[in-house]
Amino acid sequence: MIKGCAVVTGASRGIGAACAFKLAETGLPVVVNYSSRGSAALDTLEKIKENGGDGFIFKADVSKRDEVDAMMNEALKQYGRIDTLVNNAGVSQIKLFTDITPDDWRRMVSVNLDGVFNCCQSALPSMIHNKYGRIVNISSVWGVYGASCEVHYSAVKAGIIGLTKALAMEVAPSGITVNAVAPGCIMTDMLHEDCDEETIKQLAADSPVGRIGTPEDVAKAVAFLAGEASGFITGQVLGVDGGFK
Ligand code: NAP
Repeated sequence: MIKGCAVVTGASRGIGAACAFKLAETGLPVVVNYSSRGSAALDTLEKIKENGGDGFIFKADVSKRDEVDAMMNEALKQYGRIDTLVNNAGVSQIKLFTDITPDDWRRMVSVNLDGVFNCCQSALPSMIHNKYGRIVNISSVWGVYGASCEVHYSAVKAGIIGLTKALAMEVAPSGITVNAVAPGCIMTDMLHEDCDEETIKQLAADSPVGRIGTPEDVAKAVAFLAGEASGFITGQVLGVDGGFK
């Protein structure tokens, strides 16, 4: 049984919190990363500990390399090795392409794409040393199909898919798999910030399975790709979208 720890970025809320909880259930201590909502991160950790799991919370902006390095170093100090990295932290924004400012674009790229680069590069030396690792990157259906009024979001989520496929090839000889999960509409704060209630109802009606997904729907797919059973699966994009396009 391989044991070290899992690092889940953006684990204070939504999909990241569900992933942290699910991975902790498999017996891995979890580093619960957040950027600003420390009390929400503590809630996630408390839930993990109530269920018999272990871990700690760590404030780090994934777009800042020094903060990411500090988080990975603390994970290594406490647990010796990083076995699983879930790059989940992300921001979204709904805007016409012509209204997107250079600052909007920069923020989208720095959190959603630089963040994945920073965390992968910082965690990989431990994985390569141990000849084992599982990286799961959270993309989006919009990264696969594109979405109107979310050009910058779609672009970075597509970028995550490219990074996933290329990195998977590069680190496969070191026993590391790199996969992406592309969620459809998932009931989280992000969905509520982007859509009003009427739109959410319409999205559910438009979905072939007739409902919005839950963070747990995504967490189950992440846990599978993060598990030892998925060792022959790498460079893949798994849609968790209820058939939504
Ligand atoms: P959410 O509810 O808005 O939660 C976002 C999480 O990311 C929070 O934990 C937040 O931390 C963290 N975060 C934001 N910026 C960060 C930064 N710079 N550094 C570190 N952490 C940061 O979002 P969600 O819906 O769970 O989305 C999670 C991921 O799934 C995102 O990558 C998103 O693009 C993707 N996704 C979501 C949906 C959906 O329908 N919800 C669909 C497809 C893909 P704080 O709590 O500290 O702010």
